[in-house]
Amino acid sequence: MNQANRSIRLLDLSPDALRAQVVAWDQPAYRADQLYQWLYQRLAVDPAEMSNLPAGLRDRLAQEAQIELLTPAAESISRDGHTTKTLFRLHDGQLIETVLMRYDRRNTLCISSQAGCAMGCTFCATAQMGLQRNLTPGEIVAQVLYFERGLRQQGVTGRAPRVSNIVVMGMGEPLANYANLWQSLRTLVDPAGFGLGARKITVSTVGLVPAIDRFAEEELQINLAVSLHAPNDALRATLVPINQRYPIAELIAACRRYVARTHRRISFEYAMMAGINDSPALAEELAARLHGLLCHVNLIPLNPVVGSPFQPSRRADVDAFVAILEAAGIPTTLRVRRGIDIDAGCGQLRARVAARTTPPPA
Ligand code: SAH
Repeated sequence: MNQANRSIRLLDLSPDALRAQVVAWDQPAYRADQLYQWLYQRLAVDPAEMSNLPAGLRDRLAQEAQIELLTPAAESISRDGHTTKTLFRLHDGQLIETVLMRYDRRNTLCISSQAGCAMGCTFCATAQMGLQRNLTPGEIVAQVLYFERGLRQQGVTGRAPRVSNIVVMGMGEPLANYANLWQSLRTLVDPAGFGLGARKITVSTVGLVPAIDRFAEEELQINLAVSLHAPNDALRATLVPINQRYPIAELIAACRRYVARTHRRISFEYAMMAGINDSPALAEELAARLHGLLCHVNLIPLNPVVGSPFQPSRRADVDAFVAILEAAGIPTTLRVRRGIDIDAGCGQLRARVAARTTPPPA
């Protein structure tokens, strides 16, 4: 039977759905637990590997189910070898990006939550493609499994052997794909699943207020980052259009509710753009906005996007901005720029590859 007939996408199934499927195949429910372990702990890609499952079930899986959901379509590795960006093609031809950043003691994976994005941020490459569709839970988790397999195979000594941190900061607005995102996060932190600590995962949002309130109620201690980029509505609305729906006062109020509820520090992302949002006056205004909030500001050097007028801030302006925030008692870090030579900024590899390839028909 060919690929097209293998219509059951195992990674899209929640543990309950997987159990129901196994029972529908006339197998005892505990086989689902074994299968779950093969998928998320042993990272099997082929049912033939699943040695503790009966041959009948392995045949069924081979005929009716598929495991791998991603086809690597392009890959670039930074000159220093520490950053790898992979462009994946999905079954319907959509392209998404995932970036692995290797440090001495951790491997941080930046994953996508949607193909494209509807938020329209004016400095972001992904915004230019619009929203194509939500990723399924399996397509989100599969990005992690793919890189984890690669790291385990390499087994490089002296470096963390596995994906140790995940940031949902690739393509898309994760909180606009809430249910699928959370199904994938639950699998990633499940000790019987992938088993990563919730605190090792950060979800970044453009600032969808109702979803932030929902996030605050979740039991898992997953970190939240909010893309602020400006301290007032007039400026932010020109950079982040959703600000018209959820203005800064409402957004910061939601962040304060989040911190009050969870006691977790929130981080604010702020992409530094020359002459746009990097003046000392704006740093003062930002400090005033965030006063008394358990937070941290992460300044991001802008990755220039082709066709966009925005340029990265000058180093001296960034330093002055940091100094003002720090003096106001707001912990601030400057994100290390990784993979700039490989289009590792949001949406950039896809834009380059899509310009020279035509996706296959869906
Ligand atoms: N939609 C989510 C996550 C996606 S992008 C969000 O808005 O938070 C992750 C971060 O990269 C966001 O802070 C986003 O604003 C930022 N970003 C997008 N384009 C960028 C660029 N060209 N340079 C620097 N940061 C960028």
